[in-house]
Amino acid sequence: MPLLAYLCGMNSRKVRVRFAPSPTGGLHLGGVRTVLYNYLFARRHGGDFILRIEDTDQTRFVPGAEEYIMDCLRWCGLIPDESPEAGGAVGPYRQSERKAIYRQYAEQLVANGHAYYAFDTSSELEDMRDRCRTESNPSPQYDGRVRMSMCNSLVLPAEEVAERLAAGMPHVIRIRMPEDEMISFEDMVRGHVQFQTGTVDDKVLLKADGMPTYHLAVVVDDYLMGITHAFRGEEWLPSAPVHLLLWKYLGWEAQMPRWAHLPLILKPDGHGKLSKRDGDRLGFPVFAMNWKDPKSEEITRGFREMGFLPEAFVNLLAMLGWNDGSGQEIMSMDELRDNFSMDRIHKGGAKFDFEKAKWFNQEWIKRADTERLLPDVTACLSSAGILPDADTLRRVIPLVKERCTLLTDFVEQTGYFFRAPDAWDLDSVKAKWSPEKKTWFAQWSTRLEALPIWEATAIEADFKEAAASGGIKPGELQLPLRIMLVGGKFGPPVFEIAAVIGREQTQARILATLAALDTTA
Ligand code: GLU
Repeated sequence: MPLLAYLCGMNSRKVRVRFAPSPTGGLHLGGVRTVLYNYLFARRHGGDFILRIEDTDQTRFVPGAEEYIMDCLRWCGLIPDESPEAGGAVGPYRQSERKAIYRQYAEQLVANGHAYYAFDTSSELEDMRDRCRTESNPSPQYDGRVRMSMCNSLVLPAEEVAERLAAGMPHVIRIRMPEDEMISFEDMVRGHVQFQTGTVDDKVLLKADGMPTYHLAVVVDDYLMGITHAFRGEEWLPSAPVHLLLWKYLGWEAQMPRWAHLPLILKPDGHGKLSKRDGDRLGFPVFAMNWKDPKSEEITRGFREMGFLPEAFVNLLAMLGWNDGSGQEIMSMDELRDNFSMDRIHKGGAKFDFEKAKWFNQEWIKRADTERLLPDVTACLSSAGILPDADTLRRVIPLVKERCTLLTDFVEQTGYFFRAPDAWDLDSVKAKWSPEKKTWFAQWSTRLEALPIWEATAIEADFKEAAASGGIKPGELQLPLRIMLVGGKFGPPVFEIAAVIGREQTQARILATLAALDTTA
């Protein structure tokens, strides 16, 4: 094909990207960031975003893990256009359901000399490793150095290979890696990347159970699904030479997606990849949502349950390794989509900073309107055993949201609006308490009976007037009043609180605190 026609053809291909998780457990924030970059790229270029479940390794099957991934994507608002759930024109989207597709491609590779049948038993493989192990080569691989001394179709006579296959002897198909070739590609993040093929082993492509390995399946499916760009974590970079060769050997090089290997998310100190264990050790989540291990029943906490808004989670993930150069950090999904470009992804890893993550959440809570927060705050309160009525909560949310970093902070910040405190910070009251103040509060509580309008400014005016006639500075009465209504020294303006909780509750809480002060005096 003439180069120009080829390039025009490339340009006119519709952008198609994929997230291809193996459903083996909780979804790490690095995984969600990969989804996000895929999604933003697809949306920016009017393309398709595909979810493909890579479940060919039956030994690693974990019940519930696929549903969990779907739930995480739903929570983040990263909905695939094609997926096992949504279907699509090039499905199935679960590799285990595509088993019948892969063998023909493995056979094609054998036929054109780029792969071979290997009959070695596990003890033969073990022997090879024992035989070849040296100080400089502590874990010998099945590669160009040993393949001609093993039991495979490169060594055995053709008739014997045919007999073994006809007899159904267990075998795998391995790629025949060239001994000494330099292969290279242009990575969208890392630029020019090159590999010496001799350093890579003859990876298994098709397993004895007829299932493909990841290496074969990823290439076949990216091809059959028309993937134009493949973004994945940097940990997959060492596998890239195998994939590049498979694209070439299968004759599909012209359709090969452009690759982007995304930098790692690092521990806060920058030393190595952020792991689940780091999260446990340092007290923050690394999974998108709570993950319950079906075997051990152990629950690993997620950002959602920790009290993050999905808007904040997505925003902070986008900024872990990318920015648009403007200095603007808070961006909605639409803004991210409009500003996203692969060339501004950093090459180096991004250090995870939980304080910064919380800052994003706080900013999003501040910006969110009451109706947006209402369902999440209601859920938080009800899991703490508080059942708020929606109208009161609508009044309360704007009063307290500036004080909340996590959604779970709403429990402390709003709980006293719905139930009287069961304990008070009496020490703070007693520090400047006096019999005059006690009398004043008892009288003011009764006087409130007569207040014609129950709203903050009227309550405040009455409070000040009563303070003046009692000869006490209002400032000296305000802290005790707050502690009476709230339980502690926090919350929005105290007269706003009185207005929301109502006349009766205000009076009852004042009297209850006076009684508690008497008994502890
Ligand atoms: N199944 C691989 C994973 O679990 C996908 C890697 C890729 O995107 O090529 O991450």
